[in-house]
Amino acid sequence: MKFETKAIHAGQAPDPTTGAIMPPIFQTSTYVQTGPGEHKGYEYSRTSNPTRTKLQDCLAALENAKYCLAFASGCGAMTTIMHAFKTGDHIICCDDVYGGTYRLFTKVMTQHGLEFSFIDMTHISNLKKAIRPNTKAVWIESPTNPLLKLIDIEAAAKIAKEKKLFSIVDNTFMSPYFQNPLDLGSDIVLHSTTKFINGHSDVVGGAVMTNDKTLIDKLHFIQNSTGIVPGPFDAWLTLRGVKTLALRMKRHEENAMKIAEFLKGHPKIEKVTYPGLKDHPQHALAKKQMRGFGGMITFVVKGGLPSAKKFLKKTHLFSLAESLGGVESLIEHPAIMTHASIEKEVRAKLGIDDGLIRASIGIEHVDDLISDLKQALS
Ligand SMILES: *Cc1c(COP(=O)(O)O)cnc(C)c1O
Repeated sequence: MKFETKAIHAGQAPDPTTGAIMPPIFQTSTYVQTGPGEHKGYEYSRTSNPTRTKLQDCLAALENAKYCLAFASGCGAMTTIMHAFKTGDHIICCDDVYGGTYRLFTKVMTQHGLEFSFIDMTHISNLKKAIRPNTKAVWIESPTNPLLKLIDIEAAAKIAKEKKLFSIVDNTFMSPYFQNPLDLGSDIVLHSTTKFINGHSDVVGGAVMTNDKTLIDKLHFIQNSTGIVPGPFDAWLTLRGVKTLALRMKRHEENAMKIAEFLKGHPKIEKVTYPGLKDHPQHALAKKQMRGFGGMITFVVKGGLPSAKKFLKKTHLFSLAESLGGVESLIEHPAIMTHASIEKEVRAKLGIDDGLIRASIGIEHVDDLISDLKQALS
């Protein structure tokens, strides 16, 4: 089955008791047993819930994965993965990573004995150099957030395999529509389903996909023990959202490409970064490992922080907000907003400067979006 069809049908057969075409919201905490230990696979909704199962089956199909677990949030998914490691384990992470990932790793997981190295993985040789005897995993985000740098997922997975490390990819920015890391050799994919997968800015959720049965069993054991589970209504909303993922991603990308080109030609813009632009330093890698370029753009306005602030106050259609991947366009200032939890010196080293703006391009009509940016820059 093709992606569009799977998004609508995988895991979502009509309800056998009523014929309801849409999956019911199984709003229940427990399940009646016909005798002690005799049940239909469901005992308690922290462990599993039928609406959640349907979401997991659909998301697994979209990532070409055998298994999926849905979580209460993307951070909940990351926390669960981190609990699969133990004191003294070392994890190599790309340097330009989601602010919440950086915070979880450096401020929380280090308190539990995990060690991290943050490296520039755009040069894959850096990965080899960073491996230590206690290294257990490689953590990748590609494209990175907010600088949209790319990491060669296949090359990283190959090195990880040779050294018996887990390769983990946060695929939130591309969604399974544009990129499938498991097909490139990675062991684990995770998503903040809050973003493109749900796509309507009305649920916070996460998901993990893998083909490894031992690993998914371990992660499910941890999830059940720590209780990082989504409620049935959130699972249902996400299933509703994901049905249109293909249509949305196409439009996000179409709009992003036109807006990137518009910004590139604007005299008040210093720099535009979008993997779809031919002048993106890794445009060739983008074409190789992704089927599209996504809906995220970053750009620098001339004049630093004062100009950036002035511009951000003037947009109307682009709402000033954290998050991304919804049908509506959002715009934000990474240094003050999403990446504020990263120390100023680290931000400066990475190139997240005060004039940098990140936009999540929505699926509105592109002419209206461009007019909005034009008036805000004037
Ligand atoms: C938002 C986000 C997360 C965290 O997910 P939540 O659902 O907000 O907990 C992780 N990685 C990336 C790339 C994100 O954009």
